[in-house]
Amino acid sequence: MSDPSYAAFYRHSVESPEAFWAEQAQGIAWQRPWGQVLDRSNPPFAAWFVGGLTNLCHNAVDRHLADRAEQAALVYVSTETGQERTYSYADLHREVQIMAASLQSLGVSQGDRVLIYMPMIPEAVFAMLACVRLGAVHSVVFGGFASVSLAARIDDARPKVIVSADAGSRGGKVMPYKPLLDDALRLSQHPPAQVIVVDRGLADWARQPGRDESYGDLRARHALAKVPCVWVESTHPSYILYTSGTTGKPKGVQRDTGGYAVALHLSMRVIYGGKPGETFFCTSDIGWVVGHSYIVYAPLLTGMTTILFEGTPVRPDAAVFWRVAQQYRVNLLFSAPTAMRVLRRHDPALLQRHDLSALRAIFLAGEPLDEPTGRWVAESLGKPVVDNYWQTETGWPILATPQGFADVASRPGSPGVSMPGYKVCLRNETDGAPVAAGEKGVVAMDWPLPPGCLQTIWGDDARFVQTYWSTYPNRQVYSTFDWGRQDADGYLYILGRTDDVINVAGHRLGTREIEESISAHPAVAEVAVVGVQDALKGQAAWAFVVLRPGQIDAAAAQQASIAAHVDAQLGAVARPQRICLVTALPKTRSGKMLRRAIQAICEGRDPGDLTTLEDPLALQQIPDAIARP
Ligand code: AMP
Repeated sequence: MSDPSYAAFYRHSVESPEAFWAEQAQGIAWQRPWGQVLDRSNPPFAAWFVGGLTNLCHNAVDRHLADRAEQAALVYVSTETGQERTYSYADLHREVQIMAASLQSLGVSQGDRVLIYMPMIPEAVFAMLACVRLGAVHSVVFGGFASVSLAARIDDARPKVIVSADAGSRGGKVMPYKPLLDDALRLSQHPPAQVIVVDRGLADWARQPGRDESYGDLRARHALAKVPCVWVESTHPSYILYTSGTTGKPKGVQRDTGGYAVALHLSMRVIYGGKPGETFFCTSDIGWVVGHSYIVYAPLLTGMTTILFEGTPVRPDAAVFWRVAQQYRVNLLFSAPTAMRVLRRHDPALLQRHDLSALRAIFLAGEPLDEPTGRWVAESLGKPVVDNYWQTETGWPILATPQGFADVASRPGSPGVSMPGYKVCLRNETDGAPVAAGEKGVVAMDWPLPPGCLQTIWGDDARFVQTYWSTYPNRQVYSTFDWGRQDADGYLYILGRTDDVINVAGHRLGTREIEESISAHPAVAEVAVVGVQDALKGQAAWAFVVLRPGQIDAAAAQQASIAAHVDAQLGAVARPQRICLVTALPKTRSGKMLRRAIQAICEGRDPGDLTTLEDPLALQQIPDAIARP
């Protein structure tokens, strides 16, 4: 790339954000140019490209038809069903219009929400793109979530329509979706009037007349549909994506349209080094932010080919990623550290079997990358491994080693340096003062956050301000809730969360959500859930449960029943790895649960200052409970 140094590029982004982002916005098509690059009138809110009219689907699909109509846009690879299908940009354009017409026929129009609860199939991508084409707001809910999680999201987003499927498949096992959706709709206070079901022929499903429509029928009806893009204000919400926090209620991260398009377009070039016509393979799921940004939007905004993979990293064998990379001449691969730790347990020869000459780099994100795993991948494949650190809230990396520049080298153990527009500063936990180089502090960012980051929490501006911007009174500072350390050259090292959020195999889970679910089990009196270090998944959830009187005799059965209860309510993704029974939980005299102390004991560390402990015996039970099988 032509820019001489990343340091100068970055400096420009934070010293003259208006000028910098106006230049970057040239990479996106606007139906009407913006009047103001950044509206600073209402901090901590920030509105980007105010007055501009654009459309994400136009930029991701229609815009490429002139130059690359026959180029592959979306390659679908399912090792679950054995299907592989390639959609050119022209095909994608057609399919998205069919889906858009189907949604329109059910009354969806600009500003309406559409909830997408789907496995990794092309129709899920069509549905996302169809929504933004219409100016509707999509909310994708990860397929691993079950009915209670789903109902909470339905009630918050209040979708007009839900798009779902009969079933997914994982590791060769069919996972029905429709019964979970039906349960969620029964639990919901605000169920939508219409549901679209993509029938994959994997599982029988019950159709509720008047509510459920088969996508096959709709598709046949709208096969020739032409649906123009609806031009929306840059600040118009494109999607809501729920993420866990420290309360039981998930937060709906709301993203804008124009800022997101500009930021993602920049990120693909500057951070990932991706170019139009190249192939990007992101192994995440569309239910997570990585899937939104790097399976769907960034590769398509750039005119790349993106791969949608339904399967696990080890089926039919642990070389499947590399087989796909060879077959489709993948240039850039994006995965998660847990997937690499899983592969590391298999025969290293599997990494040598395929021709990876097109592959330039492997990107890993979503959870801490341990040095041995990073080194193993780099050495086994002979390719650079690029860690990158970000959050659902930001939508694109905060820290990375930018591949579009040759002058920033990676440092082991560090996800890298600040990305354009992010004014990252490590701050003292108590007063918010910046800490010196080398000292531990909270990873924080000064206002304004760059384009692409969350606009607000859906329907709850006060919670947005309170959650992210109120840690340090009188300072406009966003807290990531991660601890970090920065060296003298600006490289950051992430040292774990400051709150009760845990990260299991790259999935962010709130311990409170799991606690609330377990508390609702009839045999449970009290519960504490903590995240415990795990060699494979980074962290695992362990639950410490006090049963109600009279339930103790059936302890083993209760453990299994509690696990099944979490599965049914939240989904297997939230099921604790261990459920340990105790007769009391350690609390302070004022009744505050000592989760940190429990966690320390589980990890074999010193539990620290326990002077406020109400009942020392409660803490002594923890090691005994862990020792029991
Ligand atoms: P999520 O919003 O689910 O993507 O989770 C974001 C959180 O995951 C961050 O706040 C970090 O705690 C963690 N995280 C994400 N990427 C990294 C990384 N590269 N290194 C360390 N932690 C990470």
